[in-house]
Amino acid sequence: MAIKNILITPGDGIGPEVMAEVSKIIAFLNTEGIASFSVTERPIGGASIDAHGVPVTDETIELGKNADCVLLGAVGGPKWDQVDYSIRPEAGLLKIRKELGLFANLRPALVFDALIDASTLKADVIRGLDILIVRELTGGVYFGEPRGIFELPNGERQGVNTQVYTTSEIHRVARVAFELAQKRGKKLCSCEKANVMESGKLWREEVSKISGDYADVSLSHMYADNCAMQLLKNPRQFDVIVTDNLFGDILSDEASMLTGSLGMLPSASLGARDHAGHQNALYEPVHGSAPDIAGQNKANPLAAILSFAMALRFSLDLSSVADHIEASARAVLDRGIRTPDIMAEGCRAVGTTEMGDAIIDELKTRLRKAA
Ligand code: NAD
Repeated sequence: MAIKNILITPGDGIGPEVMAEVSKIIAFLNTEGIASFSVTERPIGGASIDAHGVPVTDETIELGKNADCVLLGAVGGPKWDQVDYSIRPEAGLLKIRKELGLFANLRPALVFDALIDASTLKADVIRGLDILIVRELTGGVYFGEPRGIFELPNGERQGVNTQVYTTSEIHRVARVAFELAQKRGKKLCSCEKANVMESGKLWREEVSKISGDYADVSLSHMYADNCAMQLLKNPRQFDVIVTDNLFGDILSDEASMLTGSLGMLPSASLGARDHAGHQNALYEPVHGSAPDIAGQNKANPLAAILSFAMALRFSLDLSSVADHIEASARAVLDRGIRTPDIMAEGCRAVGTTEMGDAIIDELKTRLRKAA
């Protein structure tokens, strides 16, 4: 069995607590002979500032580039609120994403039946929902030049940001989305504002141009404002959505909230695949370091565990184990086992470690049955 290298960067606050549950699953998969994972751990964010004076070291970035994937917890906390902006914990996260060239951000919105009442939408609208949003992460208006706040000759101030995309930037993220759609429901919806923005017109034309390479995927286009409405009106019409950095920021937050709780949301960020087939990848829960509950065994580890399931599927060639982990999460929730953030009447409240144990017990049963 090929050895796979994993870099774990637990980070701050609840980061180390939720990542400890992921580490338990990794150790379990190694012990059972299902995988051969070699794990390296390094601090990131505030923990790295304390240890090394910077939120991420060059050594950690090199380890991340050479690993099959990076699993990150969360960064930040009040302890580092006063440090210089350039070395804030969040700067470590931005730097590792940039250095690894992670241009495609994947955010699934998956509704678990057991948590259907946690959504603000009607159960009938979201039952069975399974959407994947692919957001372009390294281009567009957040990075385009010129940018800044300028003084005009008439004394007014002018704020400027520039939306800019090249064909290669559009193609590479669209190809990631097409390939993901091929492995899912074979439907891709591309969102922009081609009606009012030239960059959107180019986006639409270029996505259409490469669609011929993915004849088994049905491609549609939608204006981003309409997509925002459709996500609330009839979200199940979507399979994979691909969009730019700005619209993706907003639409992925909207879609994730269809499902209820922040403690349940995984994410992945992928780079380009090189000639040898290696692809930089970082997996992390969407939530932050939750200083309000840190150190109390209250954090929901499912977002981190489901992020690890994405890593198994996209970086570690273990899709079937990913399926079993997701099914285990579903089963544990169906049994009414809940961390405080997703607690409901009649359910059993557990802590972070007990939730991790419950997932491993369920996984053990499922994997042994499948063997
Ligand atoms: P947050 O996501 O940390 O917390 C928001 C709320 O959700 C809190 O009430 C928290 O207790 C709860 N929550 C979050 N994750 C949870 C989980 N797994 N289980 C149960 N409850 C959970 O956001 P915030 O409070 O705005 O930020 C706190 C710190 O985290 C800040 O320093 C911020 O910069 C940082 N942050 C980091 C990331 C990241 O590392 N990717 C993302 C967002 C915020």
